[in-house]
Amino acid sequence: MFDLSGKIALVTGASRGIGRAIAYELAKCGATVIVNYLSSEEKAKNLAQEIEKLGKKVYLSKFDVSNYEEVKSKIKEIEEKVGGIHILVNNAGIVKDALLLRLKEEDWDRVLKTNLYSVFYVTQAVLPMMIKERFGRIINISSVVAFTGNPGQTNYCAAKAGLIGFTKALALEVAGRNITVNAVAPGYIETDMTKELPEKVKTAFLSEIPLKRAGLPEEVAYLVNFLASDLASYITGCVFHVNGGLYRD
Ligand code: NDP
Repeated sequence: MFDLSGKIALVTGASRGIGRAIAYELAKCGATVIVNYLSSEEKAKNLAQEIEKLGKKVYLSKFDVSNYEEVKSKIKEIEEKVGGIHILVNNAGIVKDALLLRLKEEDWDRVLKTNLYSVFYVTQAVLPMMIKERFGRIINISSVVAFTGNPGQTNYCAAKAGLIGFTKALALEVAGRNITVNAVAPGYIETDMTKELPEKVKTAFLSEIPLKRAGLPEEVAYLVNFLASDLASYITGCVFHVNGGLYRD
């Protein structure tokens, strides 16, 4: 197990799915965790109880990652209450699928705002703390579809591919500050997000996965733990795939 004791981690969109697993696994490794959520208050509280049962510190922070002003004020509040953030996992995300010809402008905007602009908002607010701490681990959750494309997801694929460019550019900007920036690109992982997929799409995905099954949120979290740890100190600007062999590069 990786040792993250003494580290403070913020995980966006941690009330459910992959973010929940990441927050829980970071806590298991000893980190103090800030659980960000937006609408799933009960689920966020339940996660906080589970983390407390581990004997670890946890804080809840409700804010909309797609709202610049709200992000800035909530991150300031976290710094005052909890302290400087060492580990940031930009995980919050949504889908609003439609073929391009039918895609509504509001659904283009919503997906770009929540999946990509949010990463700029949260990272810009957190970065000064990492510079002060002379340590930082930024892990951005992208997607396999940033590499493969997916019909009906031009908005989502654009956002998740944008995140890769963001990761590589920021890695170069902050490398001299002992801050690493990496991206994790999950494949088909069992969460509420994939539950919404039509059966036809699920079956098509599964038939193409060499490991012949969907992934579990924990299987993404284990990689995040490693990237957040001291053992990953010489890794930056990279993308890591967790997809059962669905896409390889
Ligand atoms: P879920 O739909 O299960 O969970 C999404 C999480 O994001 C929830 O905790 C939700 O919080 C939060 N969230 C959504 N919008 C906002 C917002 N505006 N502000 C703050 N939090 C928000 O998704 P997954 O766990 O499946 O996905 C997590 C990440 O992994 C996403 O970025 C997704 O794109 C990516 N991914 C997922 C894959 C999969 O197969 N599941 C594959 C590849 C990538 P709340 O409920 O409190 O509103």
